[in-house]
Amino acid sequence: MKITGIETYSLSSPLERPFGWSQGWIDRRTVGIVKVSTDEGIVGWGEGAGGPAAAAVHDVMAPALIGQDPMNRVGLWQKMFARLYNANVAVGFGGSALSAVDTALWDIAGKATGLSVSELLGGRIRDRIAVYATGLYYTEGEFPTRLLDEATGYVEAGFMGMKTKVGGLPMDQDIKRVAELRKAIGPDVKLMIDANQAYNAPSAIRLGQRVSEHDILWFEEPVNAQDLEGYLQVKAELPMAISGGENLRTRYEFKDFLARRAYDIAQPDVINVGGITEMRNVAAMANAFGIQVNPHVWGSPIMIAASLHVAASIPPCPPSGDPEPFVQEPVMEFDRTPSGIREGLVEEPFDQIDGYVAVPTGPGLGIEIDERALARLAD
Ligand code: CA
Repeated sequence: MKITGIETYSLSSPLERPFGWSQGWIDRRTVGIVKVSTDEGIVGWGEGAGGPAAAAVHDVMAPALIGQDPMNRVGLWQKMFARLYNANVAVGFGGSALSAVDTALWDIAGKATGLSVSELLGGRIRDRIAVYATGLYYTEGEFPTRLLDEATGYVEAGFMGMKTKVGGLPMDQDIKRVAELRKAIGPDVKLMIDANQAYNAPSAIRLGQRVSEHDILWFEEPVNAQDLEGYLQVKAELPMAISGGENLRTRYEFKDFLARRAYDIAQPDVINVGGITEMRNVAAMANAFGIQVNPHVWGSPIMIAASLHVAASIPPCPPSGDPEPFVQEPVMEFDRTPSGIREGLVEEPFDQIDGYVAVPTGPGLGIEIDERALARLAD
């Protein structure tokens, strides 16, 4: 089998109600998709090829891939990585372009062999992945009714935990928001906060200390993603777990954060870290250092499927006999904010039951891309 073509698609879906994260507001959801075609008619889908990453796919990856055997995932990963590494662009968009193509190659390998990606990875430790709801972003006029209704909706839907933003409002208002959320959901549901790198270390410590009375399970990206010393400072001063890593590419960017235990929880992102191939490498490294791995997921069904397959083989941390989600078992982010792409690109969008999402069992990623929806969502 040979790779014959690589196409990218820029998808965009407007939001009815714009929402804010810790660093800005968005009025549409966007996703960059890659489709890798072969001479046997099998196609593979990947995600992470948005904006400049699409240019990297076409200009850097495609010349290295056309005519190659797509089954050689490790060889092609190395070939692509070498091109990026030697130009010092394996970080940022280069890493996302690599991720997109790598994911598509795993999809092809699964379809060619009749095996799911998790089976190709060696099988599954678990058939369903515990998830938490990501939502509770900022919206105009949300507080308190709409925000608290959203939170209690997640409790009623059966989620064991949920995550909200901090860092987008003046600190006193963010703290009030967290306090009201905890009151609304009661003491039994996990609550996490995410600053999207909004703070410096002393400000993150100040906020963390003031919300700690509301039983915050983890504080995500409290400081700049590259600020290793800042992470260590925050981690030393706060009682809750400190998490991060969604913006890092490859094991080489992760290594110091893991070796110095800057995270209690690492959150590699399959469309940033270097695809399924590298996600697994980083997850194994983290596990060896006693760091929990909870995959970061915020995208289309392609990314969700890829993350579920990898999460199926992430060992508990530590490798205890009777692991509990949020304690030793990995838990996956499950974005619940509105997205026409997440809900529209496949016939049956992923859903959770009792706080778990089932790992797909079909060949490859195990999803069927609706090409009419792809055309409709194309930018
Ligand atoms: Ca995050």
